[in-house]
Amino acid sequence: MNFNFFMPANVLSGRGVLLKSGAKMASYGKKCGILTGPSSAVKSGAFGDAVKVLEENGISYCVFNEIKENPLISDCKRAGDFFRENGVEFILGIGGGSALDAAKAVAIYAANESLEAGDIYLRKYDNEPLPVCLIGTTTGTGSEVTGVSVLTHHETGRKKSISGPDCYAKLVFADPQYTKSMPYKVAVSTCLDALSHAIEGYFTPKCGEIQTMFAEKAIPMIYDCIQTLEEYELFGLMPEEADINFYDKAYYGSLYAGITLNTCGTAFPHPLGYVLTENYGIPHGKACTCFMTELIERGRIYENKKYLRLFEILGTDEKTFCNKIEKATDVKIKMSREDIAKYCSRWDEAVPGNFLQSPGSLTKEEAQEIFEKKFL
Ligand code: NAP
Ligand code: FE
Repeated sequence: MNFNFFMPANVLSGRGVLLKSGAKMASYGKKCGILTGPSSAVKSGAFGDAVKVLEENGISYCVFNEIKENPLISDCKRAGDFFRENGVEFILGIGGGSALDAAKAVAIYAANESLEAGDIYLRKYDNEPLPVCLIGTTTGTGSEVTGVSVLTHHETGRKKSISGPDCYAKLVFADPQYTKSMPYKVAVSTCLDALSHAIEGYFTPKCGEIQTMFAEKAIPMIYDCIQTLEEYELFGLMPEEADINFYDKAYYGSLYAGITLNTCGTAFPHPLGYVLTENYGIPHGKACTCFMTELIERGRIYENKKYLRLFEILGTDEKTFCNKIEKATDVKIKMSREDIAKYCSRWDEAVPGNFLQSPGSLTKEEAQEIFEKKFL
């Protein structure tokens, strides 16, 4: 029953929490740098509420809204320079995982003028990052509660994370209503990402008692949302009348999954999924969840007790579950043998920790076989 647990973000949740408690941001300074993507912050209503709260509390602000999906370190560096030049004292990241992850990196660059973009991976710099506050607008990454930031190198196009105590938000305003403006496709992909976090984390050896509690809570909540999304599929969009309970369940489910992920990390589907995002533009959630069938298969073989418990929680069987997830994921790509060999060569020197902590510990050769089986 042992566990390790470290999650030092102050998370305030509930409908209207930003307007109610936004004054707490004043303790981080008099000038805020708002970091977002081009449109989601405004569409979700979070930007408007944030500006209102900042103005009411005498906090001035400037805005950098050029963070793209799969944020580039060069853009984060640019935003960091912009905020430093404007005397920003703390960062407010608003958006999906891309803007939230970027906020963590921008806070490091803003406080460290001489840090070159690519050197952020060395994890060495002189000054503490600026404080970071976050507002999530998708039901996926759980970045609000993790000490993780997934960045993309602007030269190699590779996705690579940084993580550590310096990557936690100081303050999180977690309000499911800001996820209501997600397009249907974003809702599907981000719910799948959250499900993947909970199930990948659940199968790792780091999943202690607390992480298991969160995973077991998150998994049925998110699976339920994925089934609801299947019903909405006919429309191809989120129906106007989509129950706010859907968003509550999906958003809080993604945070619970994030809490599991934060200690456990992810298993092999995440690094394999990065290959699909980098080379085929598949959205992150779909890219990772595309390997759910293979993960469950290995769970059945190597972690049978956990596997049995998983389907007890889900209230269904492996075949039904995997069929539903494959249908929602819907990744249809083809790779040549040469492509696969090239993608897998990144693991020549060392296989990622995510492979090692997967059920049965995945080898590079097995990763290659998975690609061949699915995409050749
Ligand atoms: P995202 O990349 O942040 O956003 C996807 C798209 O959805 C963007 O076009 C965005 O618009 C739009 N969008 C987001 N919220 C919206 C809303 N409420 N209304 C309308 N449009 C909205 O999506 P994500 O899946 O949340 O994040 C993916 C990133 O997170 C990946 O880079 C992934 O690697 C990373 N990730 C991080 C962790 C972690 O622990 N830190 C875990 C898993 C994944 P805008 O461009 O205008 O914002
Ligand atoms: Fe993810």
